[in-house]
Amino acid sequence: MVAVKCLEKYNLEGFFLDYGQRYAEQEQWAASNVARRLGIKLHSARLTGITVESENEWFPARNLYIGALSFSMASRLGCSAILVGSKTNEYREDDEYCWHDCTRVFHEKLQELGNRALDFPSQEIEVLQPLLGWSKQEVVDGLKAARIPLHELWSCYRPDKDGRSCGVCYHCVELKKLGVWECVHSA
Ligand SMILES: [Zn+2]
Repeated sequence: MVAVKCLEKYNLEGFFLDYGQRYAEQEQWAASNVARRLGIKLHSARLTGITVESENEWFPARNLYIGALSFSMASRLGCSAILVGSKTNEYREDDEYCWHDCTRVFHEKLQELGNRALDFPSQEIEVLQPLLGWSKQEVVDGLKAARIPLHELWSCYRPDKDGRSCGVCYHCVELKKLGVWECVHSA
């Protein structure tokens, strides 16, 4: 949705990271579909040797890895900004699916750290959350309005051995609440 929203304003390039997530193949397929539809170049990278087989989908410091690699890519490509898809404003303790590394504060600190790591470039690279405060419903509505086929996207944390959505993980349940799970899970 970030790419759709920012397509007119920026000369976009996409970045996908395979960090060993069990749904990497499906996510990369979905990212490629969006990139192809919007005419965006997609860069892909793969982290190996640091992943551990686990039932838990939690990957410690995932967004710090993605942020660091994004700064490296953005610098070499001459980008002015890194656009992040997270919608989270503030951290909420009462939401078990809210993480500090998705929040506005995290991305503000990432911007400071990233530019420091680049030795303070003359033109600072911004870290922006164009969907800040959006609801899941607004994302679905935005994708539909942009005519992005939902069946070309991916959301599930725990695909089965045949690569299909599980129907019971957090993301599958959320999509069911929105009435679009059937649309999003083909792969
Ligand atoms: Zn699922």
